[in-house]
Amino acid sequence: MDGANAMDAIRTTCPYCGVGCGVLATPDGAGGATIAGDPEHPANFGRLCSKGSALGETVSLEGRLLHPMMRKASGAYERVSWDIALDAVVEGFSRNARAHGPDALAFYLSGQLLTEDYYVANKLMKGFLGSANVDTNSRLCMASSVAGHKRAFGGDLVPGSYEDLDKADLIVLVGSNAAWCHPVLFQRMQANRTQRGAKLIVIDPRRTPSADEADLFLPIAPGMDTVLFAWLLQEIVARGAIDHDFVAKHTSGFEAALQTARDIAPDLATVSVRCRLEPSLINAFCDAWISTKRVVTAWSQGVNQSAQGTDKVDAIIHCHLASGRIGKEGAGPFSLTGQPNAMGGREAGGLANMLAAHMGFSPAEVDRVKRFWNAPLMAEREGMKAVQMFDAIAQRRIRALWVMATNPAVSLPKADHARAALGLLDFFAISEVLLSNDTLNAGANVLLPAAAWGEKDGAVTNSERRISRQRSFLALPGEARPDWWIVCEVAKRMGFAEAFTYAGPADIFREHAALSCFENEGSRGFDIGGLAQVGNAAYEGLAPVQWPLKQGERVGVARLFTRGAFQTPDGRARFVELKKPALSLAPSSDFPLMLNTGRMRDQWHTMTRTGRSPRLGAHAPEPFVSVHPQDAAQLGLTIGGFAQIGSPFGQALLRVDVTEAQEAGAVFAPIHWSGESSSHGRVGALVNPATDPFSGQPELKATPVRLTPLRFEREGGFVAREAARFPEAWWWARASLRDGVGYRVASDMSVRESADWFNARFAHCEVAELIDALGGLYRAAAFREGRLEAALFLAPPGGEPVWERLKDLLAADVIDATWRRFALSVRDVGGVADRGPMVCSCFGVSQGAIRDAIEDGACDTTAVGAAVKAGTNCGSCVPEIRKLIASTRVFEPAG
Ligand code: SF4
Repeated sequence: MDGANAMDAIRTTCPYCGVGCGVLATPDGAGGATIAGDPEHPANFGRLCSKGSALGETVSLEGRLLHPMMRKASGAYERVSWDIALDAVVEGFSRNARAHGPDALAFYLSGQLLTEDYYVANKLMKGFLGSANVDTNSRLCMASSVAGHKRAFGGDLVPGSYEDLDKADLIVLVGSNAAWCHPVLFQRMQANRTQRGAKLIVIDPRRTPSADEADLFLPIAPGMDTVLFAWLLQEIVARGAIDHDFVAKHTSGFEAALQTARDIAPDLATVSVRCRLEPSLINAFCDAWISTKRVVTAWSQGVNQSAQGTDKVDAIIHCHLASGRIGKEGAGPFSLTGQPNAMGGREAGGLANMLAAHMGFSPAEVDRVKRFWNAPLMAEREGMKAVQMFDAIAQRRIRALWVMATNPAVSLPKADHARAALGLLDFFAISEVLLSNDTLNAGANVLLPAAAWGEKDGAVTNSERRISRQRSFLALPGEARPDWWIVCEVAKRMGFAEAFTYAGPADIFREHAALSCFENEGSRGFDIGGLAQVGNAAYEGLAPVQWPLKQGERVGVARLFTRGAFQTPDGRARFVELKKPALSLAPSSDFPLMLNTGRMRDQWHTMTRTGRSPRLGAHAPEPFVSVHPQDAAQLGLTIGGFAQIGSPFGQALLRVDVTEAQEAGAVFAPIHWSGESSSHGRVGALVNPATDPFSGQPELKATPVRLTPLRFEREGGFVAREAARFPEAWWWARASLRDGVGYRVASDMSVRESADWFNARFAHCEVAELIDALGGLYRAAAFREGRLEAALFLAPPGGEPVWERLKDLLAADVIDATWRRFALSVRDVGGVADRGPMVCSCFGVSQGAIRDAIEDGACDTTAVGAAVKAGTNCGSCVPEIRKLIASTRVFEPAG
């Protein structure tokens, strides 16, 4: 494990996606740690993807919020004691509760929180402050799956396990780019294909890296998944693949659901038109699905993040119910959760429409939880879901908000509106690890320094219902404290000491487990009563375990519904009558293109953590929008140029990426860039806030937009030892570099104005400049004590790429005379040619190096791996390497 001693390693879990990989972290004694995959963790068996592998680069204390702080009247923050900060939170919430009632209060939580954090936050708000306004960024991630599961199964129950993906003969990915978003799980699917010959079908409007790997790809029209699966349901019936016995014994509502399926998808021709899929593709999909008994249909945000997401989920589940392909080895519907503890949050009641331990707001459930908590002021009805919550803040119906471990000013739809709403709060507290982010900068009154990954201790639950421990391996820095501790201290100061005095996370976990089995008697699938008495040492050493794990049991259940026994009152799964799908907003003459949003391979959410890794930043260093060549030509957009993007909700300005992988009529932009990491890259600002009627999940993948080409006079790069502030009109995007920060920049400033800005900014340094006013070229470097302090290269668009040169200059320890001479040269200097984006983050292999290997004869991914190591660790980049092989033509010498 890379020089670290496995004996000293702490077993923990990765804080990124819902795969929930086990991690071995070995502290280096200097605040860092060596990271390796845990070979014993059943989610990953030792593998990590590029993000997980780079975790060690993200634990530094740079930019950390280390002390409680409060905002003064001037707007500046001052350090205060924990006592003062906690009292301020108590006062802010109590004052607003007295003046406006409990529903004027809200908590906005995160799938990054641990289960114990979630549990106490939910308990405080729903049991002691009397409001259910507790929602989480998981609302943006998997709420439609929760609602779909509840409608069909009677509870939020994921039927299968990752093992089913190993044993399926057909895996169908719907709206899931697992190759990038669940990379280790995708590697398991690929291993199944290689070792067992399983097939992979991908259904997605976009040709993603997952689609590139598929045996069959269906480029479905946005939002039309329900139509396709309604047709599949009818084909299951028409071709005699229905499991009559299962349907009769274990389900209800089949005939009515079949009738609505007929309305939604009356014939193949209509399905073909609505889905924009060739009939032959639809038939091939139905043939494969129906003829394969062991089929797992897995989905992710492409299904969930939709104003019709719950119907899409149930349309998929219907096909598994009708064919009896559920509760069996290698078969079942499978929701792939986005975040590391989205499922733990669901268990603890972190959603506004759930109470706790998978209970809702029926009078009996409210009474049960009230008695268990001995709660003085129970919420008796659902609270506000995320989008609704921020609208209520804007309307001043919610007056006091506490945000924990998330960045809603970037991630919510209509994000500028959400950011502005935060400024209207009477009281705004935030538990954060960073001193600055878009949400905090919107004007929080109190900053509460929270423990970060590596310092936190508790439990998380991954996509397959597996509870794992996240263990601390670094000391708490400064005055940072765990989130659960902060919540409990506030609760105690509010007079609820008896209910919120815990010795540690183990105490909270035991209570959470006890609630799960309290008056349960089989009525709730989420039952971890087997852990209700877990001792401190056993909790500390708890091995990953799946739920349910009932009292007296030692092993969790891998697969649910093996004998039917759904969680509905009659024990039958429900077929649901679905609605004919329609996007909440159709393209129009004003906004003719459909914007799809999503993740990049090497970044996570708003990049507050992955953005610290130079390795991860090298894969895609700036925000961009992908456009089909036909649309690009029609709009006058050029590769590498800029596009101003407008929607009915906001604006962004992004670099243009022209690619055949993008379907015509639609564009794609990644979600990661914030106001901290870019000038104009906040894609959330564009996004449609319409929500699903059942789940409240917003339509994050279908916003009508227009694109207008935009040209800057000059483009280039800027590197410096420290973060910079640019003139207002500049476009910039920040990336972490070794020993400093890098920015891609563009501006309309003249060469002279650019020179003035640089010289004023680095007046304390020795500045060397190359000015070509006629050619519009400006290059400057600032040196101090033989070291490069900063450099700015600007040229008219389309000039030579300078990024790698700038990075090399910054990385050099001492700039000697030769380097100084060549630093500003317009000629290429040996060894610093731009090698293109980083493809393999694990081994730092650029696109150029891979192309060289291909040109030297490496004709498949194994050969490329042997030549330059790319793709031989986590495998996340293998689809990109395959594409490069396909697109790199090697010319044999003639004769
Ligand atoms: Fe972390 Fe990658 Fe595993 Fe997801 S697949 S949990 S991001 S290592």
